[in-house]
Amino acid sequence: MKTHKAIALFSGGLDSILAVKWMQSKGYPVHPVFFKAPYLLQERAINYAIKNAINLEIIDVSEEHIKLLDNPVYGFGKWLNPCIDCHSFMFKKAAELMPDRDADYLISGEVLGQRPKSQRRDALDSVSKLSSVKDLIVRPLSQNLLPDTLPIREGWIAKKDMLSIQGRGRLAQLALAEELGIVDFPSPAGGCLLTDRNYCLRLRDLQKHHQDNLHAIELLAYGRHFRLTNEAKLIIGRDEAENETLRHIFQQGIMLEAEDYTGPLGFITGKLKLETLDLALSIFILYHPKAPIFATIDVWRINANKITGKMIKIATKGDREIIKKHLIAYL
Ligand code: SF4
Repeated sequence: MKTHKAIALFSGGLDSILAVKWMQSKGYPVHPVFFKAPYLLQERAINYAIKNAINLEIIDVSEEHIKLLDNPVYGFGKWLNPCIDCHSFMFKKAAELMPDRDADYLISGEVLGQRPKSQRRDALDSVSKLSSVKDLIVRPLSQNLLPDTLPIREGWIAKKDMLSIQGRGRLAQLALAEELGIVDFPSPAGGCLLTDRNYCLRLRDLQKHHQDNLHAIELLAYGRHFRLTNEAKLIIGRDEAENETLRHIFQQGIMLEAEDYTGPLGFITGKLKLETLDLALSIFILYHPKAPIFATIDVWRINANKITGKMIKIATKGDREIIKKHLIAYL
């Protein structure tokens, strides 16, 4: 008899870990996939997959996923999270992978009633319908409370192996984690920056200035962001890791580095006039507490992620009020 394999939507959160481990514990082959986009935290998914001995495939869907933010059929959650559209998109993408991965159906860690908007019974139904692969979807943690789909009707998986978890509490999931020997899992929120209010403020700023292209959205996950003019922005790394990441991914614009004082790097995007550069330098130097009133800054021109030129500028340290005026963040 043919063994039927599932593709699992994997986020790195507890529910997705449980769905994979539960199905595997019952002997069902599962192929977990993480769909990558600039605001979906890949490091977290990889980290918790490794900790739980889960072989994870990562597929970049950034270009398509950011289009969901334009006009999602089912709108947004509390912030800029189009959860119903997002889940159905992921099911659709996972279904496209099925022939190549020799898989026959799809699973997720969705739990009936877990999230007030996106996991109500009608919302789960909307996710399924919008995905166009409704009859192939199984939600092992809650499936006994949901209509049977093809994998159950056909006997590819046994209904008795499905669970009846529901509601916002986490006790049932924690008990199941213990039963399955899962000890490493993240706290409930935090896998998606579209639910982070400061990230969303930065994203709205890009949208307002018609700069919400993929690279600009990628940069949003790192550093402090300042709106300088309608055209130009400044980004300042918050720690060494962010400086390095920004240096690594920054494609086009200006990079700032103080000559004689340790501190963060700065990155300027967009069209830049001389007075805008002076403004950027005056903000940048405020993040170098040991620098005096006048400090020398290396101004590197970056093109296609390569240094193509350099000039030296003097930054003048001014009033910290300037930060409040330009920082894109809830203070
Ligand atoms: S929280 Fe983010 S990743 Fe999760 S469904 Fe919503 S938009 Fe998608």
